Amino acid sequence: MKTAELFKIKQVLSFEIFPPKRTASIDTMYSTLDELKDLHPDFISVTYGAGGSANNNATLEIASAIKNSYGMESVAHLPGINLSQEDVLFLLNGLKRNGIENILALRGDINPDIKPCGDFKYASELVSFIKEHGNFNIISACYPEGHPESNSMINDIRNLKHKVDAGTDQLITQLFLDNSYYYAFQERAAIAGIDVPIEAGIMPVVNKKQIERMVTLCGVNLPKKFVRMMERYEDNPIAMRDAGIAYAVDQIVDLFAQGVDGIHLYTMNNPYIAQKIYEAVYRLLAA
Ligand code: FAD
Repeated sequence: MKTAELFKIKQVLSFEIFPPKRTASIDTMYSTLDELKDLHPDFISVTYGAGGSANNNATLEIASAIKNSYGMESVAHLPGINLSQEDVLFLLNGLKRNGIENILALRGDINPDIKPCGDFKYASELVSFIKEHGNFNIISACYPEGHPESNSMINDIRNLKHKVDAGTDQLITQLFLDNSYYYAFQERAAIAGIDVPIEAGIMPVVNKKQIERMVTLCGVNLPKKFVRMMERYEDNPIAMRDAGIAYAVDQIVDLFAQGVDGIHLYTMNNPYIAQKIYEAVYRLLAA
């Protein structure tokens, strides 16, 4: 099923997972998927590392297992920056063979040690290419606080409109910790004529190292109440985890109440956290 269809009938709850490291067996994913299946996500997306060090063959294998062994809808991430057109065609054929209809088409983060291939400079070029070469549902990334490389919100939204016009069916946001960024972004997108569903990407932050990485990588702003929470619980991992879950639940309750199209939960391959959040919000999904 094309996941964009889901938004016509409900507020969506989806999960993101990442493949195990190259040195780890893919079998470790199956216990994670066993647990996530019980939470009835509308789909699960599987990341693909643009940097070259990740276990990228595993993306197809895991996305295929989600769809064909677990009977859930899956989305395969596909960052184009270090791939040639030939590579992408090869990957698209693999997805077709496995019945995977949904692709999150990305540029990928630029690794200073790897010269970009040059075939796909921006995600919009990859979106057009995928559109030409198959009947896929195409998802793209968007950034409520602006993409870190972008010099203005206006240019960022113009580029996003271009990406949607190229064939994007659905959007998923970068994580944010202050919902007001999401609402302001939603308004800018509507003004720009972007009318595809926009899922809010929510990451439960459960340790200090994780958030430091996110701030460096994604340039996400830390609201005062979030910083105070970190300071209060940073030396108590269990309290920090529970506070991080409660913070994410608070964000989700507000987003659902405001009629968000869907929530994409960055699970960090941690079924415990996904389960606690699901338990807190699943009745909202049915309401
Ligand atoms: P683009 O849409 O190409 O945008 C990148 C920058 O270029 C932006 O600043 C944009 O404004 C600008 N731009 C776009 N078009 C033009 C143009 N025509 N002219 C000038 N400037 C332009 N990375 C991975 O490697 N693997 C993953 O699995 C992965 N999953 C992700 C999932 C989500 C939900 C999100 C939000 C991000 C994910 N990323 C992943 C990270 C992503 O690859 C990076 O954020 C990357 O820096 C940008 O990717 P993009 O697809 O948004 O790029």
